[in-house]
Amino acid sequence: MSLPDFAIEARNLVKTYPATKTTAEMQALKGIDLQIPRGSIFGLLGPNGAGKSTFINILAGLTKKTSGTVTIWDRDIDQRPRDARAAIGVVPQEISADPFFTPYESLEVQAGMYGVPPKERRTMELLTALGLGDKAKAYVRQLSGGMKRRLMVAKAMTHNPPVLILDEPTAGVDVELRRQLWNFVVDLNRKGVTIVLTTHYLEEAQELCDTIAIVNRGQVVACEPTGDLLKRLDTRTVVITSNAPLTEVPILKGFEGKLRKDGSLAVAFKTGETGVEQVLAAVRAAGVGIKDLATEDPSLEDVFLSLTYGDPTAERPTGT
Ligand code: ADP
Repeated sequence: MSLPDFAIEARNLVKTYPATKTTAEMQALKGIDLQIPRGSIFGLLGPNGAGKSTFINILAGLTKKTSGTVTIWDRDIDQRPRDARAAIGVVPQEISADPFFTPYESLEVQAGMYGVPPKERRTMELLTALGLGDKAKAYVRQLSGGMKRRLMVAKAMTHNPPVLILDEPTAGVDVELRRQLWNFVVDLNRKGVTIVLTTHYLEEAQELCDTIAIVNRGQVVACEPTGDLLKRLDTRTVVITSNAPLTEVPILKGFEGKLRKDGSLAVAFKTGETGVEQVLAAVRAAGVGIKDLATEDPSLEDVFLSLTYGDPTAERPTGT
């Protein structure tokens, strides 16, 4: 059997939530086209309300789409819903673990629900991989928040799906646990599992994902390899430390400078139009002595803002 080029493919996917007594009809997805390459760590990035969870819920079979087609591992979710669902594991945003099960039992029950025969279950292997080996027989209610979250990841993997979806996986997870989770995810990816990650933490997507789709208001505004996306914004910044402390922004011919809190001078320029040399010449001409300098590439946040800018009501990313 040949493997699909795309782990997930959505075509013209539309979701309209019907009006209720208190809310108007809401088109949460306005014709999403997405191809998620097999083997990638794919980031689905966008502000709150962009439609990320709606998309994930449709994949997971929890929400019905209004129109369009979706295939998971080449299995159409309308024609082969069970097979399609068997190809993904979804780690939901909310922690929902039965407090009266041990992690071991919890995974066994989950495997049973997916019809995994006892001989093929990998319960201890999964618990160990997620650093829960010594908690196998503890009650879930005795686990810390981070442990519960890792248990959710293990649960999503009990039926050994080729695609793992993590919905905002690190919300409320501390740095140490985040690292552990990423190590596990990257390891899974090396073993061939396609990873889809939703986040509004731009740095997270930038660090982890090889491909990033940006969604805003139910539409895909960009979908490219991470590096290309960053290159799209051709602004770089020169940061200059002057010999004498600057108290006000010098007037620069052809550029606009900004004073940073540490007293350095940041000057942005378009790489397609000019270069560091020209910036430095303008700074010197303004009588600023240069003691030190550094250049900065755009962050994903800059790219995101430039792509969604122009929509003044778009929510600015926060929490990064
Ligand atoms: P995200 O996950 O990117 O924050 P969501 O998919 O949760 O975005 O939401 C997309 C839009 O759909 C939002 O405007 C949200 O209010 C709306 N929405 C989400 N779920 C429902 C629902 N069950 N009923 C009505 N509207 C919803």
